[in-house]
Amino acid sequence: QAGLLAKELGYKVYAVGGFVRDILLARPNLDIDLVVEGDGIRFAHALSQARQGRVKEHQKFKTAVVVFPDGQRIDVATARLEYYEYPTALPTVELSSIKMDLYRRDFSINALALNLSPGHFGQLMDFFGSQRDIKEKTIRVLHSLSFVEDPTRILRAVRFEQRFNFRIDGQTLRLIKNAVQLNLFSRLSGARIAHELQLILDEENVLECLSRLQDLKLLAAIHPQLHLDADRTRVLMELRKVHDWYRLLYLEPPVNTWKLYMLGLTMGAERDSLELVCRRLRFSDRELREFLALRDLLGESLARLMTWAETQSSMSDIYFALDPLPVEGVLFLMARSRREIMRKNISQYLTRLRTQELLIDGSDLKIMGLKNGPNFARVLRKVRAAAIDGAAVTRDKQVELAK
Ligand code: ATP
Repeated sequence: QAGLLAKELGYKVYAVGGFVRDILLARPNLDIDLVVEGDGIRFAHALSQARQGRVKEHQKFKTAVVVFPDGQRIDVATARLEYYEYPTALPTVELSSIKMDLYRRDFSINALALNLSPGHFGQLMDFFGSQRDIKEKTIRVLHSLSFVEDPTRILRAVRFEQRFNFRIDGQTLRLIKNAVQLNLFSRLSGARIAHELQLILDEENVLECLSRLQDLKLLAAIHPQLHLDADRTRVLMELRKVHDWYRLLYLEPPVNTWKLYMLGLTMGAERDSLELVCRRLRFSDRELREFLALRDLLGESLARLMTWAETQSSMSDIYFALDPLPVEGVLFLMARSRREIMRKNISQYLTRLRTQELLIDGSDLKIMGLKNGPNFARVLRKVRAAAIDGAAVTRDKQVELAK
């Protein structure tokens, strides 16, 4: 349908990028990127009308996103015709615009186009050895200035390499090392680095990505405080496991992966250094405040858990140690803990204690004549402790305790 619509407008349209790569790799990918030789925005409107979609357009970049009622999104970009003037007497050359569009991409594996135009439907446009590289499991840049143009591609190279179990090709690896030596990362905005780092932290094999980044001295290039020592590596490995466990149980609320792994990546850093790392990664003032506050809270919770570990006192102590933390903090403490019993208790907190309802509430306390205030909270806390520790599991008991 896209091809026919394009033809009516006198355009050509191609599917490009990760979508085509993943077809060849037989991996599912629902993110469709289209490139139009013609007016991409006009095409996006035609596509949207044909299937009752909505269009969000970016005139400046001549791109648009079409969102359909079933939630599917299609990104549409415009390939511009470019004319190349040679310095000598050679004539000006018009390069096929799809070829130029593909040439601007990050790696050969992402530089394939699938022709959707009627008459050529399904024709694969491979100008840069993409199919060979996919077959040989190789990540290769399209030209030697690629990382100078955009150093975030280095992080992308590692991400794709680890995701597909490919290898970065020798020349591309040399260019990466060169870029590190030239300190190209220092010129990059923190927001762009943070974005790529977040994508890495969302990968299945986040740990393999991080250790490859470390080997290539890329973590240090982002910020010297971001290095993986033995402690951080151990905790990150455990984080991965507890995160999987949490997701598998469909527990709520969903985890902010970025926050969770940043706790592991910066574990043990002094507060000042931590602030520098966060500033480098362009945390907003609010994000920074929240992250630092979380670190302080973790310190307090950890101290309380240690006390518990010495005395092996009641489960309610575990509850009150963990209750002030967001779920990322709780998972971090679970991953950090070396003691089996502690991990078990924390998992109990997450799966059971945290959501356990009391059988009395504020209105009961009001009927008893208690006024809202610190006293109120203190009584509820006492009842909660008794409920968790098994001393007040019936409503009558809880009412009695509250009196
Ligand atoms: P994923 O499966 O992770 O979504 P993707 O290949 O679809 O991978 P996107 O980030 O959605 O990645 O980008 C879509 C396409 O845009 C890529 O396939 C690539 O061709 C191109 N691209 C993205 N980022 C860059 C970049 N920094 N430099 C050059 N090309 C890029």
